[in-house]
Amino acid sequence: SVASADTGAPTHPDHVLTVTGAGLVGSLLALYLARRGHAVDIYERRPDPRRAGADAGRSINLALSDRGWRALEGVGIAEAVREVAIPMHGRVMHDVHGQLSYQPYGLPGQSIYSVSRAGLNRRLLELAEAQPGVRVFFGQQCLDVNLRQRELHLRDIETGREQHVAFRRLFGTDGAFSAVRSAMQKTDRFDYSQRYLEYGYKELTIAPTPEGGWALEKNALHIWPRGRYMMIALPNLDGSFTCTLFFPFEGEESFAALKTPADVTAFFQRVFPDVLPLMPELTDDFFHNPTSSLVTVKCFPWSFDDDVVLLGDAAHAITPFYGQGMNAGFEDCRVLNELMERHGENWELVFREFQQLRKPNADAIADLAVYNFVEMRDRVADPRFLLQKKIEGK
Ligand code: FAD
Repeated sequence: SVASADTGAPTHPDHVLTVTGAGLVGSLLALYLARRGHAVDIYERRPDPRRAGADAGRSINLALSDRGWRALEGVGIAEAVREVAIPMHGRVMHDVHGQLSYQPYGLPGQSIYSVSRAGLNRRLLELAEAQPGVRVFFGQQCLDVNLRQRELHLRDIETGREQHVAFRRLFGTDGAFSAVRSAMQKTDRFDYSQRYLEYGYKELTIAPTPEGGWALEKNALHIWPRGRYMMIALPNLDGSFTCTLFFPFEGEESFAALKTPADVTAFFQRVFPDVLPLMPELTDDFFHNPTSSLVTVKCFPWSFDDDVVLLGDAAHAITPFYGQGMNAGFEDCRVLNELMERHGENWELVFREFQQLRKPNADAIADLAVYNFVEMRDRVADPRFLLQKKIEGK
């Protein structure tokens, strides 16, 4: 029997596809599934992002690249997103003396794009919810999954009330610490690894100019490479930049070593002097914003029988140094859709081919991303590297 209770969950789950996590990948996936005519129920831990206050926080952006665009084109929303995306044609390196150097990302006309994470997520959710048969249940945390009985164990984050909801087919898009994946970990011959870097990251802000413009070159990704660590900045539509400082947790130069506002200001004065005057909220940001960790998660298989499949960070969480985590998750949705197109409702075949196709790609980008940290924080500042890039014409 099926618990429907407060969430109004379906009483005929056989016809409904269930998704856990309405993040970037879950909401795009729901859109793809709904466009194929499926009814979709999504359970999302967070409250509805459109509720008051949800957007009042910092703007955090992501780099969207070709793989991501192709997946957005597949549901016809690339043009709408392009209107609020800022092209970044290349990277601008800032040395300790404030000298700049530039490397284009590709041929003329080729770019990656800075987009607002919250804005993109909200847009995808709205489009998914507007499809007939799609329902999103916010504030519902998946605690566990009973794979054999095909049942979700949910907790309402406001009331604490728990319930069990049956599913017929489950798509786990609940991110790097996926509850669906945790349940799969307890099954036989499930491979799993997670690896943290000794670095954390913190988001900081470069303010818009008094006229509301951009204080640095707008159409670029900015990097302050400093050998063992670095800071990057991506432009926002409102004239600000979101900076991310990638920095060791421990050691002489580390988050642990910067204990007071004076420590932070002195450090920035010494290491990032050109940007310090552009960051009026630096010390507030530094001590209020979290220091977050960086993890790579690999696992296999990504499916359980023809009942459950993982996509996005739930299947492959990677470090952000290639700017490809979301793009890879979006590509998962596009590829899954192509397989549904080819194999119809033969879910076993769809899931099997999906993981066979995607796993080598996910492993490759996971390793490239870790490698690219060394390139970004160190090699891009090496004069020999700059010269070589010039010779190659890149
Ligand atoms: P998430 O975005 O994590 O979404 C998971 C969703 O599931 C969330 O809404 C969450 O609330 C919900 N959820 C979690 N647990 C549960 C549960 N138990 N029950 C119910 N719901 C649950 N990628 C790029 O392509 N380009 C970039 O420039 C880029 N920059 C990045 C910078 C940083 C600092 C970081 C950390 C990542 C970056 N990424 C980037 C990676 C990108 O953020 C992720 O790959 C992407 O968010 C993955 O989407 P997802 O939907 O799989 O997971």
